[in-house]
Amino acid sequence: MTALEMYTDDLFIGGEWVKSNSGVYVDVTDPATEQVWGRVPAADEADINKAVAAAKNAFRGKGWSDIGAAARAVFINRLADEFEARSEQLSAIITSENGTPITESGQAAKHGAGLLRYYASLADFVDADDRRPYPSNPQQYTQVVRMPRGVCALIAPWNYPVALVMIKLAPALIAGCTVVIKPASETPLDLRVLMDAAQAAGIPAGVINLVTATRHTIGALVEHPDVAKVAFTGSTEVGRMLAEQCGRFLKPVTLELGGKSASIVLEDADLGYFESMINKTCLRNTGQTCYNSTRILAPRSRYDEVVDAVASAVRGAKQGNPFETDTVYGPSASKKQFATVTDYIRIGQEEGASVATGGSGRPDGLDVGYFAKPTVFANVNNQMRVAREEIFGPVLVVIPYENEDDAVAIANDSDYGLGGTIYSADVNHAEELARRVESGSTGINFFQNNQAAPFGGWKDSGIGMEYGPEGISAYTRLKSIHRTV
Ligand code: NAD
Repeated sequence: MTALEMYTDDLFIGGEWVKSNSGVYVDVTDPATEQVWGRVPAADEADINKAVAAAKNAFRGKGWSDIGAAARAVFINRLADEFEARSEQLSAIITSENGTPITESGQAAKHGAGLLRYYASLADFVDADDRRPYPSNPQQYTQVVRMPRGVCALIAPWNYPVALVMIKLAPALIAGCTVVIKPASETPLDLRVLMDAAQAAGIPAGVINLVTATRHTIGALVEHPDVAKVAFTGSTEVGRMLAEQCGRFLKPVTLELGGKSASIVLEDADLGYFESMINKTCLRNTGQTCYNSTRILAPRSRYDEVVDAVASAVRGAKQGNPFETDTVYGPSASKKQFATVTDYIRIGQEEGASVATGGSGRPDGLDVGYFAKPTVFANVNNQMRVAREEIFGPVLVVIPYENEDDAVAIANDSDYGLGGTIYSADVNHAEELARRVESGSTGINFFQNNQAAPFGGWKDSGIGMEYGPEGISAYTRLKSIHRTV
């Protein structure tokens, strides 16, 4: 399916590609073909120390933190242009790494460039002249300034390996921080394109560093005394562990974690429209999107109709070669994830849910690759494991509710609180319900993140917000300078 080959010994440290010290490597496997097509070094502690030292030197030594946000915005806009120009190369790598359908990965460069430009446009927010007069003495005031935190560790998962770095990198850069990026082991190659773009854009050496590492050496990065802040997207289990580590060092950490969001279909919803939205809002990226609404809550009176709509949408979408533009579902991103998904399909049946479409076994005609059958479970109650645990694959459950209060109660009866959707003909009424749902974001009749508005999880879905000006605040600390006029 792919002719790419990328085998490398290099890490990106101090503005150049340098050999890793470790001599240990991680293979990169195409999940659609099960073929190894790449390899990267697994950085050891010496490599990580070198990357942190380069970022520390760039923070003060070369002045990234001192030149002001407006000057940084010029560099960031140049980076956006260089990055966007590499779109085709980038999407081919992502799809070969994790099986993301090419129509989705094809947006990665544009999306990343857009985020860089958006944060460049917020330079005034960072350097705002914020004077607070003393109420008691007009001859004195306090200048409140946003100072960059310093060297930041950015740790990303494999499902949107570029977007979930850009969402951290762009605000960190405009804030004046320098970074060491650690991608997931499954997707370690795509960000090499960003490093090439950074070189071409003339980003000062050491401002952006990339180390590919295994989970065994990440501690060296997180606990490094010169790392001032950690930003993590990934599973709740690992996030909890990082929070403990950071807590010991009183190190601020942003955590964007798992989800099990609900889609509440109200009595008055247009089911034809709902059906047309299912693959975008409930199963985006083969179900590997943190905010997917994977629990569908249907009014008892229309339960069978809703199950039919969901099953029809899932049955009607093409699964296969992720490089084909009409493919909706690719493979699971890794052998491990494939095993997790197929396990849950078995567990759902053992728990007594009925299979409306999909089920165990391989999809017809897809004998190679980590393809699990897209599956819809009916007759599910909210206590079943398939309703409570994040599956992160093409699996949906449909749960009946008695009335709207019951629907909100079921939606909120979850450890997670990340996304969610409400489908209704009455947008204002849906907004009233949206306010009662315990999650960081809720979409009415669609779900799409807005780069200008905060995104983050409640409960076990995380701590802190990304996107919007709030995204910058995570990379700055406030200082009050008391002075006279
Ligand atoms: P993961 O937690 O296994 O890995 C995430 C990152 O942490 C990777 O870089 C990985 O190498 C590293 N890591 C793994 N184990 C580690 C350990 N023991 N110590 C230190 N680092 C470790 O997550 P994943 O499987 O890559 O990603 C899927 C998860 O990410 C899902 O739970 C999904 O919901 C979540 N996610 C959340 C958001 C969000 O914005 N809330 C977005 C995307 C994905």
